[in-house]
Amino acid sequence: VNILAIESSCDDTSAAVISDGKVLSNVIAGQAVHEQYGGVVPELASRAHQENIVPVVDLALKKAGMQPADLSAIAFTQSPGLIGSLLVGSSFAKSMALALDLPLIAVHHMQAHVLANFIDDPKPSFPCLCLTVSGGHTQIVRVDGPLQMTVIGETLDDAAGEAFDKSAKLLGLPYPGGPLIDKYAKEGNPKAYRFPEPQIPGLNFSFSGLKTSILYFLQENKAKDPAFVDNHLADICASIQHRIVTILTNKLVKAAQETGITEICIAGGVSANSGLRNALEELGQKHGYKVYIPQFQFCTDNAAMIAMTAHFKYLAGDFSPADIVPTARAAF
Ligand code: ATP
Ligand code: FE
Repeated sequence: VNILAIESSCDDTSAAVISDGKVLSNVIAGQAVHEQYGGVVPELASRAHQENIVPVVDLALKKAGMQPADLSAIAFTQSPGLIGSLLVGSSFAKSMALALDLPLIAVHHMQAHVLANFIDDPKPSFPCLCLTVSGGHTQIVRVDGPLQMTVIGETLDDAAGEAFDKSAKLLGLPYPGGPLIDKYAKEGNPKAYRFPEPQIPGLNFSFSGLKTSILYFLQENKAKDPAFVDNHLADICASIQHRIVTILTNKLVKAAQETGITEICIAGGVSANSGLRNALEELGQKHGYKVYIPQFQFCTDNAAMIAMTAHFKYLAGDFSPADIVPTARAAF
């Protein structure tokens, strides 16, 4: 079984080929056009997807050593995401399936982020918990089977990636600032400054209070010393990162305690964060969890995770009608 998968939910155009559950190619074209605006501009994203999609699909097939005639199904991201971006990938996938007379498989992007953990060995066993931390979502997902997932905790406001990016913006760093906070944090003291931990009931998260407290903290200190940020950048970044990571890991430990599940995975772009990775490894040793962290190329948006999900859906006979449409928001 050979499946071509297309991902176009935000600002990366990606295509991948999976053969009997093994990813053969994963091509990703990013969009530099958004940098100057400090965030993704939806209309520009759709246009860039239109320019990229043919060469990206072409290269993914070429790298996998396949012709369109070798394919068994076409998969695409149906939701959630920017509607204009989703429309480009879904229209392309539907046209290709129609032209080649192949079945169509619609994939939920957040379910796919979780299943990125099943691309390489060792794979988690069921049930497992997944902390999905990306630019738009922060979720704790209980995973009882490849297609049996329940969100048991999520953010009430900003996502973890947004918390990193908005903090970076307050520090005057360019977009996306998450990786830069990670970089400077490596040289800093995580206990230099103490930012408050929000008291949110259950397994849910909140990051908007942290953003406000950072804003006031910076205003106060810059009033005393205009060079405060420049002189203490590493310590500030390390302290912000420490707080975001502890907000995430405290809830994850709580979820593990409440469910008794000890197979723990992470997914989404923020799982690239070295502070989060180290904290998870430590928690694994302390509590006896088995921790799984996907390769970086499978953490941020990519079509390999869409292909992996499509593989499970193909096995389950879960196909979509030809008139299916994308949606900006949808639960799974
Ligand atoms: P969603 O899947 O929710 O629609 P997305 O796919 O756009 O969102 P991802 O590509 O998974 O999001 O992740 C992007 C986010 O990850 C950005 O907010 C970015 O700052 C953050 N990020 C990437 N690397 C790091 C890092 N090393 N440390 C902290 N944050 C990081
Ligand atoms: Fe994503």
